[in-house]
Amino acid sequence: MTETGAAIRIDQLTKTYASKGSAPKLALDSVSFDVPRGQIFGLLGPNGAGKSTLINILAGLVVKSGGTAEVWGFDIDQHPRNAKRSIGIVPQEILFDPFFTPREALEIQAGLYGIPAHQRRTAELLSAVRLTDKANAYARTLSGGMKRRLLVAKAMVHSPPILVLDEPTAGVDIELRQQLWDYVQQLNRDGVTVVLTTHYLEEAEQLCDRIAIINHGKLIANEPTRALIAKAQDKVVVVEVDRDIETVPDAACFDRVERTGERTLEIQYRKDRVNAGDVLAALQKEGLQIIDVSTKDPDLEDVFLSLTRAAA
Ligand code: ADP
Ligand code: MG
Repeated sequence: MTETGAAIRIDQLTKTYASKGSAPKLALDSVSFDVPRGQIFGLLGPNGAGKSTLINILAGLVVKSGGTAEVWGFDIDQHPRNAKRSIGIVPQEILFDPFFTPREALEIQAGLYGIPAHQRRTAELLSAVRLTDKANAYARTLSGGMKRRLLVAKAMVHSPPILVLDEPTAGVDIELRQQLWDYVQQLNRDGVTVVLTTHYLEEAEQLCDRIAIINHGKLIANEPTRALIAKAQDKVVVVEVDRDIETVPDAACFDRVERTGERTLEIQYRKDRVNAGDVLAALQKEGLQIIDVSTKDPDLEDVFLSLTRAAA
């Protein structure tokens, strides 16, 4: 195993889905990034961005078209078994046999990994995902949230150093979502590297150390969460003035200024450095009388939207 320091290393990963009767679909377009060990890493992107495709390539469920991927230092082509052993995946789609009980589902999974009976963690895992009292219930009688938690337990049966959750909170109510996150954070504190895909920005913002964003199969951001949020410090003020604007004014406190109408200006500034008052004072100094002002406070959602728009 190479000591790369990365839990997952993806280089120029590409996937084209062939489809009968229509053009091939480029779902991943030369995506490269590392997931550092020990982190909670968020993979964000709108529906159809390519998140599940990427995860499923790592899981060995989808065959890539190009590029390379390493899981815990193991190349997925050269060492597929070791790569698979190093990762536990909670798939987006809930699929399992409705006639197995949670206990049986975990025992079967442990059997698949060749884990001897005395080393199995069935009871511990059931308790960790709060399914002890459902241990012997048919899976089909479990709620959506319980099934999702059972899938998390199943992914952890072989104690992988990496846990990947693909849209784990879709269809899970708020209380259970919190329980799921508590468990995931506990695993992370115990040293498990966590990757989660989501399109809930707030969730990613709260949980993730680092966030990568993909859109239309392309990587468009990959930064510590704090740095990404700092981008949300950009604030925009829209100002209407009393006369037609001939020359667009400029001032040191403006990051960007644009004439959006005969008498309107859109000015971007950093709210951690200047306030709206400074911006308006600068305009008045230019001899412009202000008729109307509106401001906009961007959050991570705006950053996300502006990034995905710029890359469209
Ligand atoms: P995400 O998980 O981000 O929503 P996906 O990886 O599921 O995105 O899908 C990425 C793109 O690839 C989408 O346009 C989707 O329609 C397409 N796609 C996914 N799976 C298949 C498949 N098996 N065959 C053809 N196209 C697919
Ligand atoms: Mg998906």
